[in-house]
Amino acid sequence: MARTLAIIKPDGVLRGLMGEVIKRLEVNNLKIIAMKMLHMTRDQAEGFYAVHQERPFFESLTGFMSSGPVVVMVLEGKNAISLYRDLMGATDYREAAEGTIRADFATDIEKNVVHGSDSPETAAFEIGYFFNRFEIPA
Ligand code: GDP
Repeated sequence: MARTLAIIKPDGVLRGLMGEVIKRLEVNNLKIIAMKMLHMTRDQAEGFYAVHQERPFFESLTGFMSSGPVVVMVLEGKNAISLYRDLMGATDYREAAEGTIRADFATDIEKNVVHGSDSPETAAFEIGYFFNRFEIPA
């Protein structure tokens, strides 16, 4: 069993896509073991995306991620990290495979509806960024 962090980004929440994203997780055997809605400050978004701080889109990305509420979830399942990344589709929705969340709903390379951890190390950092040990089953 693996765990990963999923986020429904501000565009996904604003456009009423929470139910659609959650349904896709559930039908694909990704168990939601923790979930909450929160509105990040700019500082919190910068800390979350610290690995991207040298990228030209860092300012824009952290502004977007702190522009409205997001839903953060811990997903658990067999190969959860790669399975969820497959469900999300490529970062750039124009390159995302048919039937993926980003191919179906993203409108922009930045406003791409969802986030998912890309490795076990990243997942551990990202889950710990939003959830304390009382909020996730042992
Ligand atoms: P992910 O793991 O598929 O989310 O992709 P990355 O880790 O490479 O990038 C993190 C997030 O930054 C993406 O999900 C996008 O929201 C945003 N992003 C990535 N590339 C670009 C870009 O070229 N321009 C802008 N504005 N945003 C980008």
